Amino acid sequence: MVHNFNAGPSILPKEVFEQAAAAVLNWNNSGLSILEFGHRTAEFTSVMEEARSLVKELMHLDANHEVLFLHGGASTQFMQVPMNLLDPKDSAAYTDTGVWGSKAIKEAKFFGKVEVVCSSKEKNYNFIPKDFAVPNDSKYLHITTNNTIYGTQWQRIPATSNSLVADMSSDIMSRVLDFNAFDLIYAGAQKNMGPSGVNLVVVNKNILGKIKRAIPTIMDYRNHINEGSMLNTPPVFSVFVCMLTLRWLKSQGGVAAIEKLNNEKAALLYKEIDENEMFTGTTVKEDRSKMNVCFVMNDPGKEADFLKYTQSLGIVGIKGHRSVGGFRASLYNALPISSVLVLVKAMKDFAEKR
Ligand SMILES: *Cc1c(COP(=O)(O)O)cnc(C)c1O
Repeated sequence: MVHNFNAGPSILPKEVFEQAAAAVLNWNNSGLSILEFGHRTAEFTSVMEEARSLVKELMHLDANHEVLFLHGGASTQFMQVPMNLLDPKDSAAYTDTGVWGSKAIKEAKFFGKVEVVCSSKEKNYNFIPKDFAVPNDSKYLHITTNNTIYGTQWQRIPATSNSLVADMSSDIMSRVLDFNAFDLIYAGAQKNMGPSGVNLVVVNKNILGKIKRAIPTIMDYRNHINEGSMLNTPPVFSVFVCMLTLRWLKSQGGVAAIEKLNNEKAALLYKEIDENEMFTGTTVKEDRSKMNVCFVMNDPGKEADFLKYTQSLGIVGIKGHRSVGGFRASLYNALPISSVLVLVKAMKDFAEKR
């Protein structure tokens, strides 16, 4: 039995793997693999439509919010967002809460002025800044709702009169938010809603078309909206697996139901980190991520031993990112609570034996 805590690409529900595997061999008794189906066929068009409408349903999106599945991963959105929303004289406000946020800042500078309104960099990104002001003339405020590498998460979305843009790559579909309060949301699918190779974009269509810059065809969100997210060949298999994952999420009771389980999983692991004298969490408590739990050992010399011990129990993917060290356990939607219990027991047993 393997317990997969990988940060991304990451665990998906077992039934999704089974359905995806069957479709690779013979999709819907067509005698063809999903991999050799034309994307303009009625069969695949209906997959794309179901995936888009499941996102609308699960996120309770209003009629202004359009759902797209695009190529290029979240990193392409670092550039595509400012390209569509900023003229060179415009400015946008960015929050610097980790590696991904700072990469978004770097790319936005190609297209307009960037005001970094807050940063937690001097504390190795171990907290979420609370006190900062956003200039009124900022075209939008960009946040990274969950910081995958450092294990912090915005527990409250900042109240702002500015347009809100969010990178939700590592906590999309994990908790209930007022998603309509965002004008643009993007997320690489491979953390919490599907395989790599596709990117979810949710955009309020009313914010588009307000700039003078000429936008290359494939980069203009409006063209993707007009073509039903089929401007060119979409990543067919990735969209299909996202659709299966979204169906699974709906069958579990949707985002509110999965949030309850996610809260339980995170509470179990943080409780052990706080109670076990061998371990310490790396972030300030109030900003702890429920998706990526980062912790170290008080005696770093024991970390290699602990890692080996967990590997013997089938635990994979908990080695921390090199910029934090220690351990990172990712508790995405599909990770069962039983896997968290195995990790917690391993921490207890390891401390008892030594
Ligand atoms: C993983 C990640 C990214 C990068 O995603 P790619 O699809 O590899 O470009 C961006 N932002 C966050 C928050 C991430 O976790």
